[in-house]
Amino acid sequence: MTEKNEQKVHAIAETGKYPLIEYLTNKFIKAQPSTFLDFGDDAAVINPDAKKILLTTDSLSEGVHFNFVYTPIKHLGYKVVVAGISDIIAMNAKPTQIMIALSVSGKFSKEALGMLYEGIHLACERYKVDLIGGDITSSVTGMHISVTAIGEAEDDCIVKRDGAKEHDLICVSGNLGAAYMGLQVLERERKIFQENPKIQPELSGYDYILERQLKPEARDTVLNLLEDKNILPTSMIDITNGLASEMIQICNSSKTGCKIFEDKIPIDVETQKAAEEMNIEPYIAALNGGEDYELLFTVPVDKFDQLKDVAEISVIGHITDPSEGNLFISKEGGAIELKAQGWAE
Ligand SMILES: [Mg+2]
Repeated sequence: MTEKNEQKVHAIAETGKYPLIEYLTNKFIKAQPSTFLDFGDDAAVINPDAKKILLTTDSLSEGVHFNFVYTPIKHLGYKVVVAGISDIIAMNAKPTQIMIALSVSGKFSKEALGMLYEGIHLACERYKVDLIGGDITSSVTGMHISVTAIGEAEDDCIVKRDGAKEHDLICVSGNLGAAYMGLQVLERERKIFQENPKIQPELSGYDYILERQLKPEARDTVLNLLEDKNILPTSMIDITNGLASEMIQICNSSKTGCKIFEDKIPIDVETQKAAEEMNIEPYIAALNGGEDYELLFTVPVDKFDQLKDVAEISVIGHITDPSEGNLFISKEGGAIELKAQGWAE
């Protein structure tokens, strides 16, 4: 390879911490009026008027939560932001700022981190959140990335997990199990490649489920839709560990039971197809698969007419008395107790 064609790659160590931060963050532009001060001082300052401030942190480790064999580093940046702000959205609040703490080993170049921050930048633009600070340190092995997301809400708009009442309808946005099946396809191809590196990965025909795994989106649009209809959910959570686990969270917090129906659970045809290929029941992918970032919420039963024809929302069951348990009703009509078996803690 000639000098001219060689891509310039710089070690992080030769860049220096502050020039590196400047290199990674110089494209970010403030979008939120409540961001008073971002980089360049010892702490960021936010000025949120009379709103309530919501805070949440998510940490992801290489080899546990992501794998660079099939995760493009730019996609990881995007996904980390989505994971953080999805928790703010699940409280019926507006995400406004994020902070990123990153630990990286010497195997990552300055340019690779630049790609990571391009993904973070893309998500910040898409969701209109400001990156207002963070830290970069060295790690002995691999990458560890932690995102703190900040959001704002009016006091009486915050939706928690504990407000579901008997007879409330249980709703989910979008469709479930797609990210999990996307991961199964990637894992299958990784194993084939490991055994025989000459075989090219076969990923065509799985575009939708791969995108759901590698570049998920948070469901801010569902909040707008509910607001337009003047519907305030009684409880809400985002689905990151599978429908079963999140449903149990709502029922435990609200001290209720639930009944959800297999034939009402929205599953995309591509998810269905991949599940059949791999001998996985599609409903298992929906119940126990992770990283859907869809919203699970409950609404009073009199809202049914307003929601029944909304394409992005499915009514999948209803809230019951706690003595009835947390039940999954199969297509054949059998009742199974829901169990939390989320795969990605
Ligand atoms: Mg959550």
